[in-house]
Amino acid sequence: MMTVDEILDKPKLSREDIIRLLSISDDKEQKALIRKAYAVKIKTVGQKVYLRGLIEFSNLCRKNCFYCGIRSENHKINRYSLSEDEIYRITTYAIQHHFTGIVLQSGEQNSPAFAKQITSLITHIKKMTNPSLRITMSVGEQSYETYQEWFDSGVERYLLRIETSNENLYNKIHPDNAVHSFQNRLQCLENLQKIGFQTGTGIMIGLPFQTINDLADDLLFFKNRNIDMIGMGPYLVHSDTPFARFSASLLPPEERFQLSLRMIALLRILMPDINIVATTALQTINPAGRASGLLAGANVLMLNLTPITYHDNYLLYDNKPGSKEEELPDEFDRKLQQIGEKIVYNDYGDSIHFTKRNSHG
Ligand code: SAM
Ligand code: SF4
Repeated sequence: MMTVDEILDKPKLSREDIIRLLSISDDKEQKALIRKAYAVKIKTVGQKVYLRGLIEFSNLCRKNCFYCGIRSENHKINRYSLSEDEIYRITTYAIQHHFTGIVLQSGEQNSPAFAKQITSLITHIKKMTNPSLRITMSVGEQSYETYQEWFDSGVERYLLRIETSNENLYNKIHPDNAVHSFQNRLQCLENLQKIGFQTGTGIMIGLPFQTINDLADDLLFFKNRNIDMIGMGPYLVHSDTPFARFSASLLPPEERFQLSLRMIALLRILMPDINIVATTALQTINPAGRASGLLAGANVLMLNLTPITYHDNYLLYDNKPGSKEEELPDEFDRKLQQIGEKIVYNDYGDSIHFTKRNSHG
């Protein structure tokens, strides 16, 4: 049998190689994988961190995903939507702190009125920022026309996690109805790419029923679909969701954390020039999570700019950090410099993969 070092030296990893590397349990082997991924990262995207300002602008959601704390049947939270003025104030703060991009995230709403509100919001933000901020939307499945309208009004990037690329598993983690259709989510992802967004997707790691083979297939899914950016992190339990009943059967947190780092490392090796987010979920499962994610190959951080008063009503999972404190860019910068990473303020940090794809026509 080949050693981990021998596998890492191969020019191309097979599905079996990926499964073997995801199954690492030895500390030395884990370190070798992370080292290799970090070397790839330095060579391709550099020791640079791109900051995005995250605005969780509404927790209204028409869906009922079994794992998510803001699912529509969780009646224990107060539903909110920020006013346009509040969003503009946060955007101004982002500009003052030299952010080059914001991420507008919410539960899934799909009324025509919602689509129009977003269009007017984007149009205004584009007008008020000069040079303009990059805008990423993460508001779930929408019609082709809505995506096109938002793209035309200035949204450059879209994040729509596939959650798992295994349709059977997808069906187990969502209610069985037309609003939660794997095929529709896939179609939306294709539509976003066709329209021309920098397209991001991702999955959760350590879900109930998920296997290592599923995770290997997720990585191959990202590669085969030519995705530009990935946000993936550990699945975390929210006690007021149907999936809380599986808590005892999950991988223990430390193992889920190490597996998440192996996923990031392998993704960096398989797709050297994409953007990879060191997610908040990673930070929740381990206090050094985001820094470890950056050292395993990630290169993007999202800082939560949502006013603190709303944080308790946007808890996707238990113990989400930052619910009591603000995330300050300067503090982050100091911490990152200690690990050799540096926040870049004068660059949009577009996915190199996306830029190359477009320059080749
Ligand atoms: N509603 C939109 C959607 O689902 O695409 C965007 C917002 S949703 C809250 C963003 C992401 O949160 C989801 O794609 C999912 O991967 C993640 N998420 C939800 N519940 C989670 C949990 N319990 N643990 C980890 N991640 C979770
Ligand atoms: Fe709604 Fe997104 Fe949570 Fe699903 S993951 S319940 S769509 S906010």
